[in-house]
Amino acid sequence: MRRIIFGKNMFCPWCHSRQVYCSENRYRCRHCRKPFSLLSGTWLNDIKLSLRTFWSLLWCWTQKIPVLQTIKLCHLSEKTVRFWFREFRLHLPDLEPILSGQVQMDEAYFKNLSLLMAKQIGSKKIARQVIFKNSVNKSEAANFLFQYIQPKSILQTDGGGIYRGINNWWPVTHKKDIHRKFEFGLTSEIEGMFGNLRTFIRRMYHHATPEYLPEYVSEFCLRFSSPEMFSSPSNYLAKTNLACSNLY
Ligand SMILES: [Zn+2]
Repeated sequence: MRRIIFGKNMFCPWCHSRQVYCSENRYRCRHCRKPFSLLSGTWLNDIKLSLRTFWSLLWCWTQKIPVLQTIKLCHLSEKTVRFWFREFRLHLPDLEPILSGQVQMDEAYFKNLSLLMAKQIGSKKIARQVIFKNSVNKSEAANFLFQYIQPKSILQTDGGGIYRGINNWWPVTHKKDIHRKFEFGLTSEIEGMFGNLRTFIRRMYHHATPEYLPEYVSEFCLRFSSPEMFSSPSNYLAKTNLACSNLY
């Protein structure tokens, strides 16, 4: 963690002097004499867990260990595990790619929320948008295209009414499956993603708290598009602006 936060050489986060020394798990600057801890000035500043427990907890989250398993492994309360898993989600970087080429798009419904999602075929690029009501209309679908689908893409959807004539709203070539005629080939990848999303939420978090659904979706999409970020706690921390720059 020290290497991720400070790089090769420690420095004082107050005055940037490299004249620092360690005493009893705290650091002090010889130049400005101020004390600091390893995590001063990072988003882990207020952490109350030991670093060993923190590392185990982060390992569990990166490896998709379910909440109930993590509680047992780390000897923590459910509240603490859910709090930290949420912190880890909220510190993920934002990736909002523009999709091009062949793109599959579909929507899914969760209680009072709807989810629009699109995937560029043969790639790990996904775009998604949560809509805070239980249906999606054509202008919301079109707006999603404006944001995330490059003009001249080939857009593949099911025969849903919200996609009818969508190529008049945005310059794409629209192809559609008619499910009642047992056509599914054009949307199979995106429908598989929705299935995997539901399984991910159920397995890891056990139930979907509606207010957190947008966060679960972001986490799921990043796990899919940037798996290297989740390969170890250090790879995750390196991507989350943990680096110490300046306390001011
Ligand atoms: Zn200093």
